[in-house]
Amino acid sequence: MYFFSDEERKYLLRGLVPRARQAGVAEELRGWNWHQPPVEPVYDVRLGLWEVAGKYCPTGRDLYLRRVQGVRRPPNLAMVAGGLFHAVLVAVITRAKRLLYTEGVEGYRRALEHLRSPEELARIVAEHVAGLEPARAADLEAQAGALWQFETDRIAARVQEVLSRHPYLNEDALVFRAIPVVVEQKLDGTFLGLSPNLSADAFMASEPVVIDLKFGEPERFHRLTTAGYGMVMEAVYDYPVNVGCIVYARYRDGRWTVRKDLHLIDDELRQWFLEERDEKMRMVFEELDPAVADECPQTCPYFSECRPG
Ligand code: SF4
Repeated sequence: MYFFSDEERKYLLRGLVPRARQAGVAEELRGWNWHQPPVEPVYDVRLGLWEVAGKYCPTGRDLYLRRVQGVRRPPNLAMVAGGLFHAVLVAVITRAKRLLYTEGVEGYRRALEHLRSPEELARIVAEHVAGLEPARAADLEAQAGALWQFETDRIAARVQEVLSRHPYLNEDALVFRAIPVVVEQKLDGTFLGLSPNLSADAFMASEPVVIDLKFGEPERFHRLTTAGYGMVMEAVYDYPVNVGCIVYARYRDGRWTVRKDLHLIDDELRQWFLEERDEKMRMVFEELDPAVADECPQTCPYFSECRPG
């Protein structure tokens, strides 16, 4: 899911990266300037990055209900499915790295065979689908199985391609070249007034790109997530993160398809992220009820709270 095709890499390196260098980013909007406005947080409230970047509720009342009123609701089906698919990808990628390190370059065939056996899959599925009706659980299980297969096939092809080009590399270099992605990177967001336990879906180690994976319909506000993680990385590591990528994965007619939205984390996006953060922090700090939205999806976990009867 995360690996770039040759065309995407070309667009990144010949298109976006030079554009980022040319346009630049205003110094005051870099995450490493967390100690001064506008990046410095105004309120003493810690938000999750998903709470800042999530705009599924048009007025943000979901945040108010959760953080001010303490209302807790179980996740909807889309959230359960997203959690399951994320967990499957993390398991495949970390397992592939572990197996390659354990078996070494000489044992790469054995590593790939072990990787294909989905022994962990049943456990991951069971953890996520508990409580769903059997038909829905079976549907998610089938999709998770296809995702496991999809990702193991991609990794196997990449390992074989790297080995065919570089017959003398060791296992560390093989892992870096074939699976150049860090999943679930833990980040301390406190510099920006965010949670100390943030977890970025993926960071491409070979190119400075922060990646977020979505399983639903594309939304403009999804780019707020990559902007937020990019700025947090700048605050933590003091290096620039100029490019984000939203990976949209979709299951249709029995197979997975992937589309990538590679984009600049430019001034406009950074400003939008900071405005959202400040507005939501204020809502929580001052306990302001933003009122029920004009249109609410029935799938919203807070629907019965906001629209009783
Ligand atoms: S029901 Fe409507 S107003 Fe309430 S949290 Fe959901 S989307 Fe927002």
